[in-house]
Amino acid sequence: MARIRIAACQINTFVGDLDGNANRILEALGQAEAAGADVAVFPELAITGYPPEDLVLRPEFVRDNLEALEELGYVTHTHFDDRVTRWHRADAQRHGHLVCRSCGAEQEVPIGLLEPLARRLRDEHGFRADLAHSAIVGICKACANVSSE
Ligand SMILES: [Zn+2]
Ligand SMILES: [Zn+2]
Ligand SMILES: [Zn+2]
Repeated sequence: MARIRIAACQINTFVGDLDGNANRILEALGQAEAAGADVAVFPELAITGYPPEDLVLRPEFVRDNLEALEELGYVTHTHFDDRVTRWHRADAQRHGHLVCRSCGAEQEVPIGLLEPLARRLRDEHGFRADLAHSAIVGICKACANVSSE
């Protein structure tokens, strides 16, 4: 049977000190890795500190938490045309987003669909585009059909 080594990282976190807590997590992760751990477990709400209470009602606190998670490599973000940023788990399948300007419908498309454009931008402009970073805005099929009737 395969054995898994688990590091129980009992770090002291401080409520609201997101950068400091993220650094404490990274430090403990380094120690866990050096000790040969396969999995590292942290206290509940390790990034925000426990308990965050009313801080979770502040959108900028939630955003700071997500940005700290992104710096740690756990999530990525995509910008939508409503200026709202959507977050995805970093291990989720990468995909593009189509947003209809008319009805607001959102659709996911495989990232491979955008690959020809990414390749041309790289070959012809030396530019490495991250096409999953922003949604593509346009008119969806249903709305296009209505307007052409
Ligand atoms: Zn998505
Ligand atoms: Zn539409
Ligand atoms: Zn961004």
